[in-house]
Amino acid sequence: RLKEGRALAQDVWSIFNAANLPADCINLGQGYMNFAPPKWIRDAAGEALGTIAANHYSHPKGRPRLRQALKNYYSPLFGRDLDVEKEILVTSGANEGQYSVFVAFLEDGDEVIMFEPFFDQYLPSVTFNGGKPVYVPLHPKQSKEKISSNDWTIDFEELRRAITPRTKMIIINTPHNPVGKVFTREELEGIAALAEEFNLLVMSDEVYETLVYDGKQHVRFATLPGMWDRTVTVGSAGKMFAATGWRVGWLIGPESIIKPTLAATTRIVFCSNSPLQEAAAAGIEEAVDRKFFETQRGEYEERRNILTACFDKVGLRYTHPEGTYFILLIVGQDISNIQWPENFPFPESVEGRGRDFKACWFIAMEIGVSSIPVSEFYCEEHVNIGEQYARFGFCKDIETLKHAAQRLESLR
Ligand code: GLN
Repeated sequence: RLKEGRALAQDVWSIFNAANLPADCINLGQGYMNFAPPKWIRDAAGEALGTIAANHYSHPKGRPRLRQALKNYYSPLFGRDLDVEKEILVTSGANEGQYSVFVAFLEDGDEVIMFEPFFDQYLPSVTFNGGKPVYVPLHPKQSKEKISSNDWTIDFEELRRAITPRTKMIIINTPHNPVGKVFTREELEGIAALAEEFNLLVMSDEVYETLVYDGKQHVRFATLPGMWDRTVTVGSAGKMFAATGWRVGWLIGPESIIKPTLAATTRIVFCSNSPLQEAAAAGIEEAVDRKFFETQRGEYEERRNILTACFDKVGLRYTHPEGTYFILLIVGQDISNIQWPENFPFPESVEGRGRDFKACWFIAMEIGVSSIPVSEFYCEEHVNIGEQYARFGFCKDIETLKHAAQRLESLR
């Protein structure tokens, strides 16, 4: 199953890893923060390490305290009384949870629809399990100006045509990495109608659920009429609490999906790491009373605005993101300061990839700000579309973003 091609190519995160770039390069690449999770959560992690039980295996379903916290937090949001034994599964990061769903459900040749661009891990995670990714484009509005993430839209006829008798599953990602799109209720209803008509499983990756701006509303796919029974929703403590290295995520869904997925995750990792599950539980228990998510949202909005103001000032075109912590910048050939000399020393890992890999490498080396080339979020046949963009993360403190903005001003 590990064939040549994208699934075996070196992943973009390790190519554009801070370790490969100059020490003074400002890292707006891989989406992680340069600030710590809130103190009360770190304290809870410390306390957990101080107990004996939390240094040992958890139940493969996840620690009871975390499942209970997830139940209390999510039950009102899903509009149902979630069952901690059957409908909640803690995983080693969202990524492992998704992988376990594929292990549990994909049979050789099963087709999995994903919107393109897609979070890069979906592709190998599907193909490693014998599945076949089928790509349905999100179409950006053609414009000479900046556009909004909402201007990336689905052609529902195209989506319908992508469905075949082999289609097993569709993956939704809202808010969407890398576009920043927050899917509207109407769009999700359109997908729901097709999921129902063709009896599809739905994986709804909602790891950026708390990071939605400009007054937009995050709609949970599983709450649409009739969708609970066919949907598994993916969540992440890393995104919620600025703790991406903790590798604590969760799946919420009906027993029919959670039970086989539990069997898979038990064999892959047995359980997620214990002390940080306790800390994530403390985070979720207290987040609402502390108004943590509202405050955090405001902070990210401010961070976003620093970068977008910079791009506006310089006259660079981008997609204004209504969610996540990423901005897609168009790095086309028309930007005179992203032209590199013939003999520029690109590393081997960047050679032979899309133009965006070179553009991002060049920007990192010459301007001192790293980003992620977006052709990685497109299939091999569509590299020519993705290579127009670089993704800049704004999950950094204000000072760092201002410093990065100053450097990026020299792009034009
Ligand atoms: N979600 C992170 C991002 O998009 C990357 C996660 C990973 O490296 N697997 O930056």
